[in-house]
Amino acid sequence: MVHLLSYFSRFEHSIYNPSLMVSKNALIRNYGAGILALFVLSPAFAQLSTESISQRARSIQESAIVVDTHADTPQRFLDENYDMGNTDPADPGHISLKKVAAGNLGAEFFSIWVDPQTTPVADYPRRTIDLIDTVYEQVARHPLQMTMAYSVADIERAHKEHKLATLMGIEGGHSMQNDVRLLREYYRLGIRYMTLSWSNTNDWADSSGDINDAKVQHHDGLTDFGKQVVLEMNRLGMMVDISHVSDKSFYDTIATTRAPVIASHSSARALTDHPRNMTDDMLRAVGKNGGVVQVNFYSAFIDENYRRAAEAQSKERDAAVKEFLENSKKEGKSVSYIQVDRIEREWNSRIPRPPLKSLIDHIDHIADVAGVDHVGLGSDFDGVSGAMPEGMDSAADLPKITQALLDRGYKPNDITKILGGNLLRVFGEVERVSQQIQNAPAR
Ligand SMILES: [Zn+2]
Repeated sequence: MVHLLSYFSRFEHSIYNPSLMVSKNALIRNYGAGILALFVLSPAFAQLSTESISQRARSIQESAIVVDTHADTPQRFLDENYDMGNTDPADPGHISLKKVAAGNLGAEFFSIWVDPQTTPVADYPRRTIDLIDTVYEQVARHPLQMTMAYSVADIERAHKEHKLATLMGIEGGHSMQNDVRLLREYYRLGIRYMTLSWSNTNDWADSSGDINDAKVQHHDGLTDFGKQVVLEMNRLGMMVDISHVSDKSFYDTIATTRAPVIASHSSARALTDHPRNMTDDMLRAVGKNGGVVQVNFYSAFIDENYRRAAEAQSKERDAAVKEFLENSKKEGKSVSYIQVDRIEREWNSRIPRPPLKSLIDHIDHIADVAGVDHVGLGSDFDGVSGAMPEGMDSAADLPKITQALLDRGYKPNDITKILGGNLLRVFGEVERVSQQIQNAPAR
C-alpha cells in the first residue's frame, strides 16, 4: 500500500473513513466513467498474456509455483464487498480468480493493512481481524479455486490441487499495539509475515516514510522491544519483513534476526531513487542473510522518470485531495478509501506509464547485486491506484515477466527461483529456525 503519507498526516482529524461500507450505486458513481475510459485506453483483458508469450515461457510459468508476497485486495474485500469471482472486464482490480488462473499465480500473500492515519489506535486489532476475516470468507466462498495456506507444505499441496494458496501478512507493526500476545494471536489466525513498520514510525521501529519528519519521535532504528519482536517472530515462524522500514531499522533487524528476512515489496534504489527502495549495500546484506527481496511493481518505485513526474505533481495532487476532503466535510459526507483511490488513479493516469523493461531492470539489478537466489515478486497489486508499468494490468500478465527474463538469457531454473522458489526456500528456513528455537531446552 503506497498511499502518500503526506496527504493524510496534515488531515489527521479529517472525515476520511476507510471502514465505511460503500453502496453499489456509490461505486458506479465513483468508478464508472473514469474506469471505463481507462479500460478503453488499455489493451483488452482477453488479449492480455495470450500474445507474445512463447511456448517455452508458458511451460516454465505453468510448471513453477508462482508466489506473490503483496496484494492489498483485502481493503476491497472489506470496504467494497469485492469478490474474487468478479468477471467484470471493466473492473480495475489486479486480482480475481480469472486473472490468477490466467497468470498461473500459485500463492498470494494478502496484505492486512490498517491505516494508522484514519483508524483510532484502539481499533487497530478490530480492523486487523476484520481484514483477516474477509480473506477466510473469500476462501470459504471459492473452495474449488482457493485454499488457506500456512506453510511451505500447504503451498505445495495447493499447487498440486491447482488452487490458489492463500496466505496473509500484516503490513505495519502498529497492528500489534506493542503487545507480543497480540502478535502471537495474529500468528494463530494465520499471519505468516509482518512488515515491521508501514510508512509510519511506530513505538519500536523507525519507518522510511517519515524518517525526515522532525515532528515524529524516532528511535535510531529498532528499540530493544523492537528487537524482542523480531526474535519472537523468529520463534513463532513468522517471516520478518523489512519493506517500509528506515535504513537503520533494516540494519538493526539484520543484526538481530536468527532467520532470513524478506522484503515483501521493495525495489532497488540504485535504479530508482526512492527511500522505499533498497540500496545496493542493503541488497548485499539480504543476500548474506539468506533472505529474499520481492520486487515491487509500483511505477514510482521502478522508473526514475515516473518517480520524478509523480514528485513534481505531488503539491497539486495533495491540494486536490485536500479540497475533496474539505468539501466532503462541509457537506457532511463520509469519505471512503475508494473515493481517494479514484482521485489518485486520475492523477496517476496523467503520467505516461513506464515500460515493462523498467520492472525487469529491477529484477535484473537485484539478481546481480544480491544474487539470483535472493530476488522474487512482491507486486503491490491493488495497492498502487493503477500505477504499474505498461502491459502489467493484473495478475494475468505475470507470464510477461517470465518471457522477459527468458529474453534476457535467464536459465529456466533461475526463473523458477525468481517466480517463487526463492521465497519458498526462505519460508522453509524460517520454519526450520522456528522449530529449532522451540525444541531447544528451556534454561
Ligand atoms: Zn506497502
